[in-house]
Amino acid sequence: MWLVDQKSKIIGDQRLAEQNCVNSITVTAVLILKMIIPHGSKLNAEQIYEIRSILAEFGCELDEIVGATRSIYAIKGDERHQLMINRLEGLAYVARVDTIQSPYKLMDRQSELARQSFEIGGRVLKQELLLIAGHCTIDPDNPQLFLETAQAVQEAGAHVLRGGIWKPRTSPHSYQGDVRALQTILDARAETGLPINIEVMDHEQLALAMEAGVDMIQVGARNALNYSLLKSIGEKTASRQTFVLLKRGLHMGPIKEFISAAEYIVAAGNSHVLLCPRGTAPAMDGYRNHPDECITPLLQQQTWAPVIVDPSHSVGRAVYVPHAALAAVAYGADGLVIECHIQPNRGIGDDPKQAVTPACLARIYQDALPLFEASRQYRAYLD
Ligand code: PEP
Ligand code: MN
Repeated sequence: MWLVDQKSKIIGDQRLAEQNCVNSITVTAVLILKMIIPHGSKLNAEQIYEIRSILAEFGCELDEIVGATRSIYAIKGDERHQLMINRLEGLAYVARVDTIQSPYKLMDRQSELARQSFEIGGRVLKQELLLIAGHCTIDPDNPQLFLETAQAVQEAGAHVLRGGIWKPRTSPHSYQGDVRALQTILDARAETGLPINIEVMDHEQLALAMEAGVDMIQVGARNALNYSLLKSIGEKTASRQTFVLLKRGLHMGPIKEFISAAEYIVAAGNSHVLLCPRGTAPAMDGYRNHPDECITPLLQQQTWAPVIVDPSHSVGRAVYVPHAALAAVAYGADGLVIECHIQPNRGIGDDPKQAVTPACLARIYQDALPLFEASRQYRAYLD
């Protein structure tokens, strides 16, 4: 209620500013009102005491806003002192110091949607590590190769099978994909029983994927800011709540940009969104991209969405993939999506460079399991 009042006050002040030329400082002062958002549902007496002491040094006071399920705290006084904000954000129990409202009200970890549970391939996400694996690209002229990989990744421990049908390629002269590969991955699903993940790049591909009953739609790095596609995916998958694996955009900077892209899908009707850091540009010298598995706890602290890291596109070379995969799990990843090929050299996409063998995949998975448990213990401190 208090928030609503503040919001209408801002709108009121802005109108006043327009109509009566009220000086803009008044409007700005209201707009930068700061709210302290704790990690837990409310601050305890000791924490409130500590915060009040910091605020007092800057001539400010604290006001608690009690909601039905949690409290947030408004700073009263001149809340523009950056040092004060830095000191508050340095407190372990303070999640962030925000301006009035979260930019993503659906993806926010405090939203009602945080209560939903995610289950795919027999795994309960956040409680069990999810492994998605398969070719970068399915060779439509050699379906047997993919079928054998599908069996092998399942034996290695994978819970979801991936395989590229249509490929986003830098050069228009490179292999672009082939709809025949869709049948191959459907056959592999029928043989293994594994749910399948494929990338769609446009509305037509989305329609075909939905018709085929694909279990997980991938939005690739190049389309992560294609708002029209994101909305369409949210709408078309809403009734089935098909999983959507949203990769981080190649040039995405602030975390907010990534989470806001997911907000589009959720706002359009599907809340089964998984966030996938996969490395960004510019690349770190020697790697394919700039590895970004380290953003995992940041995402988990701000949103409820499971974080599934893609180490393959991040580092881009098979020899680095195990290291990057284990690092991601150490950072608290809820799952991994790894390119794997029974014979990487015979692959027609990224596989010759970055696909690991099924034996390597099995090893990564086995080594990741205890790390996942250890990370889960640390994760409790994020709350
Ligand atoms: C892929 O998964 O094969 C792929 C092309 O992904 P990205 O969008 O992350 O490059
Ligand atoms: Mn690939």
